[in-house]
Amino acid sequence: HRSKLPNVGTTIFTVMSSLAQDHQALNLSQGFPNFKSDQKLIDLVSSAMNSGHNQYAPMAGIMELRVAIANKFEKLYDTSYHPDSEITVTAGATQAIFTIISAFIKQDDEVILFRPAYDCYDPAVELNGGKVVSVQLEAPHYKVNWDEVKKIITYKTKMIIINTPQNPSGTIFTKEDMVILEDLLRGTDIILLSDEVYEHIIFDGEKHQSACLFPDLKSRSFIVASFGKTFHNTGWKTGYCCAPKELMAEFQKAHQFNVFCVNHPVQKALAEYLQEPNHYLGLSNFYQHKRDLFLSLITDSRFKFVPAKGTYFQVLDYSEITHEDDVDFAKRLTTDHKIASIPLSVFNTHNLDNKVLRFCLAKTDETLNHAAEIINQI
Ligand code: PMP
Ligand code: GLN
Repeated sequence: HRSKLPNVGTTIFTVMSSLAQDHQALNLSQGFPNFKSDQKLIDLVSSAMNSGHNQYAPMAGIMELRVAIANKFEKLYDTSYHPDSEITVTAGATQAIFTIISAFIKQDDEVILFRPAYDCYDPAVELNGGKVVSVQLEAPHYKVNWDEVKKIITYKTKMIIINTPQNPSGTIFTKEDMVILEDLLRGTDIILLSDEVYEHIIFDGEKHQSACLFPDLKSRSFIVASFGKTFHNTGWKTGYCCAPKELMAEFQKAHQFNVFCVNHPVQKALAEYLQEPNHYLGLSNFYQHKRDLFLSLITDSRFKFVPAKGTYFQVLDYSEITHEDDVDFAKRLTTDHKIASIPLSVFNTHNLDNKVLRFCLAKTDETLNHAAEIINQI
């Protein structure tokens, strides 16, 4: 009765990664690369430590890094965020998201999100007394039905959370989606939390539609990003968020008592590493190669798929293989076939008829080849 999250257990990422380890299965479950971050970046962190950047950083992050982030927005999206007042460096995207929600959501406020949804949004809303109202994206294309969204926006709606490219489905919001959203929100005070951690992983020549590209969205948005996804170092837990000054001021009131500030030497290193745009601009090609390789190897398997448009995940439909529930099937694949994945129902999908698993493709080509061999025998 004391629990504020009575329906929450250990996250599926932890469960599946440890099951994979116990059974020595190939781990394509939790999303993280099994290859190294650039040695140059690692050297920059150690030199930052050796040159004495080992005490607290400023609350919002070191100025050099905030300037580098602002420059990236100018260069990629032709838009400006002021390094003094509109950018905060965070302990990964997770902390940014939790703090944004804590800073704004009160008892009975409604938050709209799209399912399947990344798992950290719901508990953050719930802990703050808010209520999640959701719209289901239908497999296999996971496109938004905007008429449904229109119906659930009320005077209680305080925030909408979007995630493009989307974990777990790999779908993206198009320019048309963003324009419709912009129109829908016009004249309201609804805050947009735009989770863009996979902004640099988008395929088939598509362009990432950041919320900052749409003026009437930008003025109400927090853009959330994660260096872990971009530079192959999820364990460093460093990310950032940007928002107009008034929103950011509220965010920082909560942030200063949440973590106060984040890892100083890593910020120092990232500030320098970001100076070279090629360090992130090549990422879409890098991961498109992996998606294409993996899918070309499993075309004759019994799994069905629509190629992911972005992220380093690919969902596979197993409805022609078994009627088993997705959690049971994912566990059985791990213990018996030695390959771990994530069952899609954990992303709070209401539509439990979907027989879908998510596989992480941030793996060496060798691992992907091995994974495909296993998948072809299921
Ligand atoms: N949002 C999404 C959609 C994610 O996939 C992840 C990482 N899996 C996060 C947020 C959290 O990012 P970080 O590791 O930087 O906290
Ligand atoms: N974001 C990663 C994923 O989707 C996992 C992060 C975590 O373990 N919480 O797999």
